[in-house]
Amino acid sequence: MTPDKMLASLGKVSDETEFYTLVPPGYQPGRTKFVIVLGTVMSGLGKGIFSSSLAKVMQDKGFKVAPIKLEGYLNRDSGTLNPYRHGEVFVLDDGMECDMDLGTYERMLNQDLSRLNFCTSGQIFSEVLRKERKGGYLGRDVQMIPHVTGEVKYRLRELAVRSEADIVFVEIGGTVGDVENAYFIEAMRQLAFKEGPNSCCYVALTYVVEPPTLGEQKSKPAQLNIKQLMATGIMPHIIACRAHRPVTRKVQEKLALYSNVPVERVFSMHDMESVYLVPNLLREAGIDQAVMGILALPPADAKCEQQARDVWDGYVARYRAADRPVTIGITGKYTALRDSYASIIQALEHAGTYLGARVRIEWIDSGGVADADVAVRLAEVHGIIVPGGFGVRGVEGKIACVRYARENRMPYLGLCYGFQIAVIEYARNVCGLDGANSTEVDPNAPHPVIDILPEQRKIKELGGNMRLGGQDVELTRGSRAWNLYGQVPTVRLRFRHRYEVEPRYIQPLENGGMVFSGRAPNQPIMQILELPADQHPCFFATQAHAELTSRPLEPDPLFVELVRAAMVFAGVADESDRPTAARTAPCG
Ligand code: GLN
Repeated sequence: MTPDKMLASLGKVSDETEFYTLVPPGYQPGRTKFVIVLGTVMSGLGKGIFSSSLAKVMQDKGFKVAPIKLEGYLNRDSGTLNPYRHGEVFVLDDGMECDMDLGTYERMLNQDLSRLNFCTSGQIFSEVLRKERKGGYLGRDVQMIPHVTGEVKYRLRELAVRSEADIVFVEIGGTVGDVENAYFIEAMRQLAFKEGPNSCCYVALTYVVEPPTLGEQKSKPAQLNIKQLMATGIMPHIIACRAHRPVTRKVQEKLALYSNVPVERVFSMHDMESVYLVPNLLREAGIDQAVMGILALPPADAKCEQQARDVWDGYVARYRAADRPVTIGITGKYTALRDSYASIIQALEHAGTYLGARVRIEWIDSGGVADADVAVRLAEVHGIIVPGGFGVRGVEGKIACVRYARENRMPYLGLCYGFQIAVIEYARNVCGLDGANSTEVDPNAPHPVIDILPEQRKIKELGGNMRLGGQDVELTRGSRAWNLYGQVPTVRLRFRHRYEVEPRYIQPLENGGMVFSGRAPNQPIMQILELPADQHPCFFATQAHAELTSRPLEPDPLFVELVRAAMVFAGVADESDRPTAARTAPCG
């Protein structure tokens, strides 16, 4: 039965019963286990990092895991959010624009996610209203309980069926006590009751403060907010304490005392230098064992787990050993907020770990950079990234940075807007196309080398309609990019843009020496550019967001090449120094 048919039949009986249980076809209650992670005290505790690390630890045991983030805001997706307020917009292969946490899950689990893994209040309410208009709840007033909460549970069960996961990890956005997520929490309370014993494991992530004036950890804010959680009818099974330093036994005992959680299930989740160290922190603390017990899971496949752990430990060991210093400059508008560039920071860490480099990032506010002072601004950097962006601000400064990198053989990687900026710079300063620009910046540019994509012209609204998601990139045989990506004919990268290289300028740019080494199949959309090796040691750009598909165990090759060339530029490696560490996949 389709969900709508099922709904129609429910509608008929709805005046006879208060129950409303919409279950997707094929769902078997009790087959899938749920780990539900709730935040207390404050936001920004790294719920996504915690939840993805826990999912990773369980994945390493051989369980099939699927994460879902429940986001309280009414937007249908994250595409219209300002990254300055909310962190970067992460794009999934199917084109879903979502919260940056989904990036953390993809990297940690080395798994592609889809729109099933991201649910906002906007999606829930639109769906409920759609069903209401179709007559799905005939005879009933549509209520927060059971209809809206029912829709939330439907989404979790739909994910369980479609992903065939053994364990679904549910991350509730926001903090206990927020108005926006209260109905998500209520839905989670109902879920355990409906699914039966050992089906749900509630984890309260909390924060233990340590005011500098006291020099001592205090548990009161955590206690009070956990109490507030308990008032919703949810008794946490596990408390995970975020803190700057390891949480003291005294604090753990206090929290246990006030929350009925045994002290051995109150864990310290203190700050780590890299998010990839968190899975081992969880294992060492024994959270995985606690989850196994609470969910009554069958014992793990020890061989598979050991193999997966060895792979991960290899990454951690390389990360710890990586010590050759190199500095990458990143220009950008959102320089005040690092979350806006979370995936780029991660991709640099993956590449650095792979190459034995400790990458330091220098943020360059391109708003204030001009040709005259660019040398001073870039004096300390060994490579440059111009990342994605929108609008006019800072564009001339970015062009100045690209010009400097190109003329001074400084390694360059352009990402999305940085690809378009590289084209503009080359058109102006090498091909002699004066005033070349993007029509996003100058609609009357004499040479509109970057122009709006034809299919974007007719679109008037702004939500969810850019060229979005995974696209194949055809690599030119024999090109540098082709070599870097392992000499394969196509790679799949993720996109989020409205503008492109105007096709009539492709030939003039190529005549001027620019090489378009990655193109869209069957369409004249340029997707990767490079300069030949005899002209520049490392000059690449891609219309894609290559940072989104870089994984710790599979770093993106363009990032690896940038960091490698930057190490040579910095004098901490030489040209013959090629990476030796194998790219490895985890046990699966
Ligand atoms: N503003 C450019 C475009 O829309 C680049 C987008 C981006 O960097 N994500 O094409």
